[in-house]
Amino acid sequence: MVAELIEGKPIAERMKQEVKSAVENMPEPPKLVSVLATNNPGARYYAKSQQKACGEVGIEYELHDTEIIGDRKDTESLQEYIQQLNSDRTVTGILQLMPLPDNVDGRAVQREIAPEKDVEGIHPANIGRLFYGDFSLSPCTARAVIIMLEDFGIDLEGKETVVIGHSEIVGKPSVVMLLRSVMHSPTVTCCHIATKDLTSHTKRAEVLIVAAGKAGLVNGEMLKKDSVVVDVGINRIKVEEGGKKKTKVVGDVDFDSAKEIAAAITPVPGGVGLVTTAMLLNNIIECARRQ
Ligand code: NAD
Repeated sequence: MVAELIEGKPIAERMKQEVKSAVENMPEPPKLVSVLATNNPGARYYAKSQQKACGEVGIEYELHDTEIIGDRKDTESLQEYIQQLNSDRTVTGILQLMPLPDNVDGRAVQREIAPEKDVEGIHPANIGRLFYGDFSLSPCTARAVIIMLEDFGIDLEGKETVVIGHSEIVGKPSVVMLLRSVMHSPTVTCCHIATKDLTSHTKRAEVLIVAAGKAGLVNGEMLKKDSVVVDVGINRIKVEEGGKKKTKVVGDVDFDSAKEIAAAITPVPGGVGLVTTAMLLNNIIECARRQ
């Protein structure tokens, strides 16, 4: 049997449609401002995709790059810039693009964003709310994982669920969100770089969420039969196809071997990433609502 695909597109499209309707019912369109303090090509690419996604649903988008923010390249001056955006009533949401120069304390800059303008849901005040089951402004990727599982219709109660990765933006918030219900939560194990014998955990997992950033970390032999696999990883690898070298985007799970064992699996690309973007748009609506 080949695993069912849990595709991101239909879920993301539905979410975007909801955001579009919400925007149409607002007196003014909300505005997202992304701050870019370096010339990192990856961050610029990410900014472009944000702009495109915002445009699709009628959200205004501004990229404040070095042309606008000038030579603000240290923690304090970037924090001051964020404070200005916080008090600008025309700005609904703020996103600090990473990476920042080495001398900058990125967390300190991100923490300066007012909780009600924190579109990425990473301010300590919003992260704290997750503990009490309030996901209204939550980290986009972790929330996307939960939404995809919900959409697939899986009953998580008591299920052996393994999360690989314990980063602040994906792994840890996913664990907290999975444990939201006092009575009906899955049993969650969080594996990470120091985990011994990863396979002993993945083999038990009825639900497996992989967010490590390592192509091929998990393969079919490591899976429990008929498990549900959510692959968060995004890795660019070099492959040779038809004698030509190409760059290919793959997840952390070896899709071909995993699909033979799992009951369902999210593809990469076309899975969690699409829902993550839709979640960012959804968070802008929540920012507008809180203001
Ligand atoms: P990170 O580097 O901050 O964290 C990686 C985590 O994986 C750490 O907790 C680490 O302990 C764990 N890990 C690394 N190697 C491991 C190993 N061999 N065995 C077990 N655990 C291991 O990364 P992140 O920001 O959490 O992102 C993880 C992946 O998800 C990356 O590929 C990233 O590109 C991707 N990502 C995807 C989206 C999306 O929209 N789909 C969004 C954010 C991140």
